[in-house]
Amino acid sequence: ITVSNTAELERVAKTRKNLDVAEEYKKLKTKENANFVVIGHVDAGKSTLMGRLLYDLGVVDERTLKKYKQEAEKIGKSSFAFAWVLDQTSEERSRGVTIDIASNKFETENCSYTILDAPGHKDFIPNMIAGASQADFAVLVIDSTTGEFETGFNFRGQTKEHTLLVRSMGVQRIIVAVNKLDNANWSSARFEEITAQIGQFLTTAGFNPKNVSFVPCSGLTGANVTKKPKEGLIPWYTGGTLVDELEKTKPSKRAIEKPFRLTVADVFRGGVMHPVSVAGRVDAGSVQVGDILVDMPTGERAAVKAIEVDDEQRDWAIAGHNAVLHLAGIEIDHIRQGDILCDPTHPIPAVSSFNMKILAFESITPMMVDIHRGRLNTAGRVAKMIAVYDKATGTVTKKKPRHILAGGLASITVQVDNGPGVIGGGTIPVEVGTRIVLRAFGQTVAAGLVEA
Ligand code: GDP
Repeated sequence: ITVSNTAELERVAKTRKNLDVAEEYKKLKTKENANFVVIGHVDAGKSTLMGRLLYDLGVVDERTLKKYKQEAEKIGKSSFAFAWVLDQTSEERSRGVTIDIASNKFETENCSYTILDAPGHKDFIPNMIAGASQADFAVLVIDSTTGEFETGFNFRGQTKEHTLLVRSMGVQRIIVAVNKLDNANWSSARFEEITAQIGQFLTTAGFNPKNVSFVPCSGLTGANVTKKPKEGLIPWYTGGTLVDELEKTKPSKRAIEKPFRLTVADVFRGGVMHPVSVAGRVDAGSVQVGDILVDMPTGERAAVKAIEVDDEQRDWAIAGHNAVLHLAGIEIDHIRQGDILCDPTHPIPAVSSFNMKILAFESITPMMVDIHRGRLNTAGRVAKMIAVYDKATGTVTKKKPRHILAGGLASITVQVDNGPGVIGGGTIPVEVGTRIVLRAFGQTVAAGLVEA
């Protein structure tokens, strides 16, 4: 095994300007950046709504949209034009530098936003897991068409699964877009019916009502997405547009003072000057040019030669930024998607087992599972069941349960399998608060946060 190139590390370390990054950040007064996931049943209108948002905010120009409209009409699906806006943007990104999971960006007056995940992808749940593990909040899109809302919300619909997933991953704020209300004649009764049902469900799912808002809208017509519809369309509605609600959403508290963590979303050759580059979100702390980092779980060191934030060259990046780091002293095949770049004095531990508090989606017994941590996934099993809690009060109702019922809240111990070829030799980088999803048989069986 080749290890980190020490001479190279030392050379780059000399370029460090020893900045006080927290101070620099205050001086810069850049817009806050918030990341969110878009969730909801298939065909709820997620892509169309996001495409409309990007178009109305000027991310995509008139000519491009016209081209999509023509192409869409050719195949007899004129309504697809807006959804293509979103797809196209992610595709363009994937040609160049992919920051995050097919991310799409836009700005409002006060904040810049990244849409994590590409809604509508076939492999949606794994994508969403990766997105939810970095989200500051979620936008839940509901199809208010008669019958469709019910299908999405009931039993096998995805509305509940997605919502529970983001909640159990620690996402606290949710904006509910009561979409396609054009199909329901902009009926206030329909809006209220949906609001009541979803509201009740969100409360039992553990969302604080003060962190939940509802917006009636139509991604297709654009009503109430970025602007209020022309007079009379929704006379009964006095609240804000979808963008107004986004703007009310302050990014969650930034862990600026914590040790540096960046989850690697992408590894690539960033050009002749930059043979090893990574993209990802700074989860905690800060980084500056000249810093030496350690990659976990491999334990290899790398030096930061250059940094880009929002496609601009920078001396530093801070928690919340989606950044590209150009690295030296490490080989490209020694760093993988899902690895965590860390402050070498406080690296994230790579552990072979950990405890987590879960929300069970299916009934849980000691069983084999796939452990998903963002984009990283590895084989493991539920080794111990510690306790089951009352969902309302959080008090222990049973210690050492023999199984956990679907819907239950519980603590368990997860063991990483150390079979051949397992990343990190049977360990996974986690620490208290890491968002983890457990899957089995192609289904999400539980999700939650690592605890002590
Ligand atoms: P996704 O699977 O959630 O991303 O849904 P899409 O954005 O692909 O939309 C699914 C279907 O619903 C498409 O045929 C859209 O044209 C249609 N649709 C999306 N938004 C609206 C809306 O606001 N009103 C109406 N009437 N139809 C919509």
